[in-house]
Amino acid sequence: MKSIFLALLFVLLAFQPDNYKNDRMRMVNDQIISRGVRDQATLNAMRTVPRHEFVPSNSRQLAYGDHPLSIGYGQTISQPYIVAYMTEVLELKPDFKVLEIGTGSGYQAAVLSEIVSEVFTIEIIKELATSAKKRLQMLGYKNVRVFSGDGYNGLKEFAPFDAIMVTAGAESIPQPLLDQLKEGGRMIIPVGSSSYTQYLVLVEKKNGKIKTRKLLPVRFVPFTRDSKK
Ligand code: SAH
Repeated sequence: MKSIFLALLFVLLAFQPDNYKNDRMRMVNDQIISRGVRDQATLNAMRTVPRHEFVPSNSRQLAYGDHPLSIGYGQTISQPYIVAYMTEVLELKPDFKVLEIGTGSGYQAAVLSEIVSEVFTIEIIKELATSAKKRLQMLGYKNVRVFSGDGYNGLKEFAPFDAIMVTAGAESIPQPLLDQLKEGGRMIIPVGSSSYTQYLVLVEKKNGKIKTRKLLPVRFVPFTRDSKK
């Protein structure tokens, strides 16, 4: 009797439905495809990553809404559309090695990791780096490496990167990140001196030359610097 009960319990636990699946499908259709994102790999990643696992438990019900959400320490997880837009713009390929600056909750890193083979992500707030690392591990994301520290200097030891994504608003594009971008690579970064004049800027490195293009007006939390360095 006891073993039947245990087997039943196991089945129930193993096949717990993803209660948020419908919300996620609706999010992709109504917020992302409707605004013009077409890249299938990006759309599949957005349909797969359980966004509700990356927000504080008291705002889970709001996880799939058309807005950013607070993740503590004055930081935010970006609006789903912006996550998808920035992902698509990088024109990712399965064998890519990608660097993200601004891990936050780890959500964007998880989305990237569904598409590419290796993701390196740096977070300046130690507590967020630690919790994102734990969360990604728990959810089974094995191809993401979380680093705690100031992302301004990138990760020289793992460079060059096929693509770089910065998810905090910088005043200018950090030179070390330009240096660590592979020839032919793309970087997306919010740039602007105040949150009212920020734009997503697409950076391309071709024949060693840097080309930049302003894409969308955005509002990201500021790119900060570690004063110890
Ligand atoms: N990509 C995140 C959201 C980013 S919010 C997600 O998917 O949840 C921006 C994050 O950038 C914040 O957590 C902030 O602490 C971090 N940040 C700001 N300046 C940084 C820097 N110089 N290096 C690394 N992280 C930085």
